[in-house]
Amino acid sequence: MATKINPPEEELKVFISTRESTCGECGENLGTQAWIFLRRDKGALCLACADLDHLIFLESGDAALTRRARKHSALSTVVLKWSRARKRYERQGLMVESQALEKAETECLADSEVRTRRQIREALRRDDLDQQYLEQFTRRLLELFPGCPPSRGREIAEHACLKYSGRVGRSAFAKKLDEEAIRLAVIAHLRHSETRYDYFLMKGYDRREARAIIQEDIERLLHQWERLI
Ligand SMILES: [Zn+2]
Repeated sequence: MATKINPPEEELKVFISTRESTCGECGENLGTQAWIFLRRDKGALCLACADLDHLIFLESGDAALTRRARKHSALSTVVLKWSRARKRYERQGLMVESQALEKAETECLADSEVRTRRQIREALRRDDLDQQYLEQFTRRLLELFPGCPPSRGREIAEHACLKYSGRVGRSAFAKKLDEEAIRLAVIAHLRHSETRYDYFLMKGYDRREARAIIQEDIERLLHQWERLI
């Protein structure tokens, strides 16, 4: 998705070339549509010669992710492409350091958790969340996990009910009151609240890796909650 450009003066710019270009340093023919960096004395440079080839491209479209990725990246450039139709350069995205992008993604993920909590509170206020299902879910959860503190059980149920109510109809939702659905909701809650899952995500592990690391903790916690303590 391209947006109108308005970059500050000091921003580094990478251009997606519209015609055949050659790197002014290594002399390599870059073909058409090459990603080039313009340096006054040398003209077009390939990204390797411009020392930008370790950066990764983040397409425009997610404002929060873009802002954060840029903030965390010691080196970043905008990527511009000439639009023949509109007769102007248009911003395609940014090039940023990969760990900066990972950090930004993790922060946006944490934000989405906060948003979900807010949606739950608002849905409860508007009475969109069906109180009856919420209570059934909570009751069933506490039967399956008697060691879970009731307030936590309620919190997990709210989260799960909100998630399902947006996706499936009421009758389908009622069927979701099975043991497996509740177990999955409990695991999702434990990951964030009782393990170092978020820490590992913050460190740049992908979700699958992070889940594997905390698997034993989850098993232990589930076992604790399954018994009345
Ligand atoms: Zn070069």
